[in-house]
Amino acid sequence: FQLDKIRNFSIVAHIDHGKSTLADRLLEFTGTIQRGLNQPQYLDKLQVERQRGITVKAQTTSMIYKQSNQSHQNIDNQDNPAFLLNLIDTPGHVDFSYEVSRSLAACQGVLLVVDATQGIQAQTVANFYLASECNLAIIPVINKIDLPTADPDNVKEQLASIFDLDLSEAILTSAKTGEGLEKVLEAIVERIPPPCGKTDSPLRMLLFDSFFHEYKKVICYVAVVDGVLRKGDRIVSAATGKGYEVSDVGIMHPEFKPTACLLTGQVGYVVCGMYSTQEARVGDTLYKRQSTIEPLPGFQPAKHMVFSGLYPADGTGMSELEHAIEKLTCNDPSVCVEIESSAALGRGFRCGFLGLLHMDVFHQRLQQEYGVHVHNTIPTVPYMFEFEDGSKVEMHMCTDRYKDKKLKAIWEPMVIAKIILPSEYVGPVITLCFEREGEQLQFSFITSKQALLRYRLPLREIVVDFYDVLKTITSGYAIFMYEEAEHQLSDLIKLDAFLNNQKVDVLATIVHKSRAQTVGDSMLEMLKKYINRSQDNSIQILEAITGRVVSTQRVPAAPLERKGVKKQLRQIRSVNIPREAFLERMKLS
Ligand code: GDP
Ligand code: MG
Repeated sequence: FQLDKIRNFSIVAHIDHGKSTLADRLLEFTGTIQRGLNQPQYLDKLQVERQRGITVKAQTTSMIYKQSNQSHQNIDNQDNPAFLLNLIDTPGHVDFSYEVSRSLAACQGVLLVVDATQGIQAQTVANFYLASECNLAIIPVINKIDLPTADPDNVKEQLASIFDLDLSEAILTSAKTGEGLEKVLEAIVERIPPPCGKTDSPLRMLLFDSFFHEYKKVICYVAVVDGVLRKGDRIVSAATGKGYEVSDVGIMHPEFKPTACLLTGQVGYVVCGMYSTQEARVGDTLYKRQSTIEPLPGFQPAKHMVFSGLYPADGTGMSELEHAIEKLTCNDPSVCVEIESSAALGRGFRCGFLGLLHMDVFHQRLQQEYGVHVHNTIPTVPYMFEFEDGSKVEMHMCTDRYKDKKLKAIWEPMVIAKIILPSEYVGPVITLCFEREGEQLQFSFITSKQALLRYRLPLREIVVDFYDVLKTITSGYAIFMYEEAEHQLSDLIKLDAFLNNQKVDVLATIVHKSRAQTVGDSMLEMLKKYINRSQDNSIQILEAITGRVVSTQRVPAAPLERKGVKKQLRQIRSVNIPREAFLERMKLS
């Protein structure tokens, strides 16, 4: 394929607006897959995805498309060129916008799918901004026009008023009936520019995704920006300087289809003997050994917003859990993992996630795909601990790692949130943001009916239930997105729980000063419920910075039972505090 006959694009949409269905229809229409054979949605491969209806892992597929007015002519005929369309599927949730942006780096355009019955929603806005930041061609697609409640004119108006898009650019489709598909393919060819690499320059390719395959080991998805990649080539990673030999190269059509080479502008897969996806650094530039190149602009590494400890439970062993986590992170490098140990829970792992949904999906996959059972600790956000000696450390857990140092202050991560909402809901939303310690930065009207609010808010107030509450108080109409802002020195304190003068580190928590007492008391109540009362116990909640006692209580032994202290500690160790309880606690703090 000549460069000008290649189009690299993504489909982006708010969840459930029909991205996967549309992708499948395009694959069928171009004969890449056969209708009905690949049930239900070809591109959504994982079990969790089907259950939750969200795409977690981006999948890439190539298809070949010939424009229909010339469709009876031969592929090789110069007058009737076929186009190579590379579709890069992207996840559809705000938690996964990191994966969205890395997929977009390999594209020149996107289909922005909007449900004709729902209109523009949070992820539509977030995806629109991501795509325009990458300077991509944006083709608005109004889907589900077969539904009786479809209101495409209203959606067009929204597209014009919120994004300033030309009304005439929107394409109306039904991924269900197949209506409008051809227009979509035409628009991809007509409106998305071809990739603009140099065919005769030394090889440069962008590694934009990777996953782990049982036999082939690490498979990298790459976009060849300049030059040609051939099987057998010796390549080097610009990020690590490590060298590899290309043992297999090809395109996804829709499964692995080996080819002799990948040409400039092509998107495909490469197997080159990498053993873990940690080696396959997303955003890395791969080039040929002994050539000199300028690395491609990389992109922002994943920002981990929520952290939680995972400990083996209910018959699952440490090595079993380790194996499962290793396998799973091979396929999801946006999760970060480190070993941690806790006096109460023993050895486990501390994992960082892009958001709460991402965390839930990870936990669910561990159980479903690997059958392991875990205890997970209270989700926390990455705080910055400042010590008396002036040093600062980012801490997403309350371990005793720095117990020699005296804690002086706690800085917390902040976000800048943008909320777009119908004007009649402005009042309650302002109240909500105020309650969540938000600072208003902007309040304006985009149209006569749509308002825009911008707030600086603590991340800890966002990660738990902010989005749910916002949706509830605006009858689902609010559009919400956020980006990371600088840490802020806050009135936060660390609370430590002591059982019989021994610190129960997994229960340590960071709370706002004003809520220390409430949280301290409720922690105490919770501990009381969980301890084994075979002897007298004392429970204390202390403020870590000042050492002030917040709550304290003696819990007398229950009659008859007599067991040793060791046994009790083990009892605490085996307590599985349900996630709901942690969430309850987070809400308190
Ligand atoms: P995604 O989350 O954006 O990938 O959305 P899906 O492709 O999974 O679609 C969400 C739901 O909408 C599924 O139940 C689809 O069958 C349905 N759907 C998708 N496109 C259409 C359409 O054009 N018309 C109708 N009636 N339903 C559709
Ligand atoms: Mg989907």
